[in-house]
Amino acid sequence: MTVDAEARLGRARELLAGSGAELLAVGPTDSLRYLTGLGLVADERTCLLLLAPGAAAFVVPRLNSDEAAPIEPFAPRFAWEDHSGPGEALAAALAHLGGAPRRAAVDPEMAASALLDLLGAAAGAEAESAAPILRALRERKGADEVAALRDSAATADAAMRAAIAACRVGATELQVAAAARAAFTDAGAEEVCFTAVGSGPNGALPHHELSARELRAGEPVVIDIGGKLDGYASDITRMAFVGEPTEKYLEVHGIVERAVVAALAAARPGATCGEVDAAARSTIAAAGYGEHFLHRTGHGIGLSTHEPPWIMAGEDAPLAEGMVFSIEPGIYLPGEFGVRLEEIVHVGAEATQPLSALTRELEVVP
Ligand code: ZN
Ligand code: ZN
Repeated sequence: MTVDAEARLGRARELLAGSGAELLAVGPTDSLRYLTGLGLVADERTCLLLLAPGAAAFVVPRLNSDEAAPIEPFAPRFAWEDHSGPGEALAAALAHLGGAPRRAAVDPEMAASALLDLLGAAAGAEAESAAPILRALRERKGADEVAALRDSAATADAAMRAAIAACRVGATELQVAAAARAAFTDAGAEEVCFTAVGSGPNGALPHHELSARELRAGEPVVIDIGGKLDGYASDITRMAFVGEPTEKYLEVHGIVERAVVAALAAARPGATCGEVDAAARSTIAAAGYGEHFLHRTGHGIGLSTHEPPWIMAGEDAPLAEGMVFSIEPGIYLPGEFGVRLEEIVHVGAEATQPLSALTRELEVVP
């Protein structure tokens, strides 16, 4: 995606002015990619975009300097060599910005080593989290971002179809995950972020990732996968069942499905994140499974797989047009099985709708 860095940095400056801080420092994170379009591979070397009201600077390791050239019109580069360290480049960059700030808003995802280098160069500066600024910038997606998320969701749909097709008695969770990974790559995803496959009792552990356990007849399988296409993340969960589904399974699956539908209906502009969470949670609680829904209902998604808004109790932030987030209620029965269904939804002017084209109905496999 082509990024209008001038417009995004301008908006960041407005938010910085409103925050009272004099400097915004951003590491080589998804926020740097959002602001500038630069997707640098971060390592231990200090790399910082420094944005002040009237100027900007990019402190960059020499080995990344050439690929960062597109940033030059917006933020002159201050490159540093491995043998000399970032101190001089940081000092020169701060001088270019008019001196050390008193208050610096810092990207909470930057490395602690980079923050220590920054504070070492900016004597007397106080650091605070730039999370509110970055959230305000990134939370509501533009039409081009929604299109990118939709394309990314299509790669996850293809990977989910492949994973379900790989489910059969005797297949291991690892083999099902490998089928999903291959399909992500074939669909053009540049990165496969996670492929969690939980069969039988493993599905009752919300963060179970993978094992060599073989799928058995009479057991459900939780499949939760995500990747990235053109930098934008995907994330989807569906359920497969090996053999004939049990009564109890079908009951629990139906409750989770109703929770998804209730949360979707609640997810309207102006409603709070907490209200969406409550819609899913009260549905599951009313069915008697409240204590088995162990996590928040959802998370925002964009360049990062997990980013604001957080769909959970106590979040009074209102939803607005352009937001994209997950709705992923689950019921986890220890030692038995788990059920989770996850949609990525877009809050549009007319309606809130899933990006995925896949059904949430149970996929029964032989
Ligand atoms: Zn997920
Ligand atoms: Zn998720």
